[in-house]
Amino acid sequence: MTPRILIIGGGLAGMALAWRLHERGVPFLIVDRDEPLTSSKVAAGLVAPITGLRLTLNWRYDTLYPEAMKFYRDKESQLGTRFYHQVPIVQLLRDEKAVMQWQKRREQPEVQPYLNASAPESLVNEAIFANPHGGFEQQHSGWLDTAAFLAASQRYFESLGCWQREEFSLERSDGSDGSLVWNGQTFTRAVFCIGWEAARHPWFDWVPFRSARGTVLQVTADTGGETRIINNGSWLLPRGDSTLRVGPTYEFDFDQPHTPEPEAVAGLETKLQSLLKRPYQITDSQTGVRPIIQHRQALIGRHPARPQIAFMNGLGSKGVLRAPWLARQLMEHLLDGKPIESELDLAGNL
Ligand SMILES: Cc1cc2nc3c(=O)[nH]c(=O)nc-3n(C[C@H](O)[C@H](O)[C@H](O)COP(=O)(O)OP(=O)(O)OC[C@H]3O[C@@H](n4cnc5c(N)ncnc54)[C@H](O)[C@@H]3O)c2cc1C
Repeated sequence: MTPRILIIGGGLAGMALAWRLHERGVPFLIVDRDEPLTSSKVAAGLVAPITGLRLTLNWRYDTLYPEAMKFYRDKESQLGTRFYHQVPIVQLLRDEKAVMQWQKRREQPEVQPYLNASAPESLVNEAIFANPHGGFEQQHSGWLDTAAFLAASQRYFESLGCWQREEFSLERSDGSDGSLVWNGQTFTRAVFCIGWEAARHPWFDWVPFRSARGTVLQVTADTGGETRIINNGSWLLPRGDSTLRVGPTYEFDFDQPHTPEPEAVAGLETKLQSLLKRPYQITDSQTGVRPIIQHRQALIGRHPARPQIAFMNGLGSKGVLRAPWLARQLMEHLLDGKPIESELDLAGNL
């Protein structure tokens, strides 16, 4: 029987999987609530090789980055829209401890391909940005306009009749005979790509989620034509039209997923003031919840007790980088029976 796959959730995870199935000519339907604010729509979309307090190379960057670049460039050509912006990241060191740490780290062979050796000695215009401790410039980095990518993909799949605005609920589905019937349509598999809300779903409430809410600010300021991403612990992302995005926060205890807390906004503003010397205006703030699974880079694969149900989740704060590669792994598992590595396999983590 030709497989027909129901993808529940059309964020970065679900949309990447849809594209992978589309590339193989496999029929699918994405069902998504089409909410104005989701993790994927709020995300700044940064792709950075060297991150975190310890300035380490991201998990499997050498593999994931080229695959992600090819994926987004291919979709740009197909959709006739640009949404990935390849720009360097100026990493400013926040204190003397970071300077000491970086002096050791910068010698490691693994980070060499990602350092721009020809970056100017004065990394930033110090009349505009505070830079008391110096830093370095990363290359092979950039940002995806996630909202633009999702909107263009949604329009395309909707025009093919394989994207539907709706809430999926178990009450209206039946999986008793090995297939899944939803809304009167039969599917061979359903893949849950529902982000952090999976923690509340009765089929996935055993997955050790530890998701984190995050807020980003929308700001207008004159940054002297700077196009690079500036990071001094929090980042400042020029969008090319005198608007900037500034963020993010990490909040592990939260009630409201999409309502920015005044403390979060105030904390980001304090960080902005420590970096930007020019006047600015905060015009908006947006909040979403990153789906994070404890001690895992992500989990994909079949439900251990329901073989027709699969899962792709836990993309954390690296959804743009990881989604294309993970979606391909999951597709090859579902269509070709290719095993999933144990550290990423949902069924192996019960
Ligand atoms: C403030 C912030 C900043 C971030 N910055 C970055 C960044 O710079 N770089 C980066 O790579 N990542 C970043 N991220 C993380 C990134 O957003 C996530 O990794 C990614 O969006 C997760 O995608 P997802 O598809 O798993 O989840 P989601 O985006 O949450 O998508 C789930 C989708 O499922 C839908 N859904 C849920 N339940 C149902 C249902 N029952 N029926 C129908 N539809 C349903 C939802 O409406 C939603 O559209 C950031 C996140 C936040 C919050």
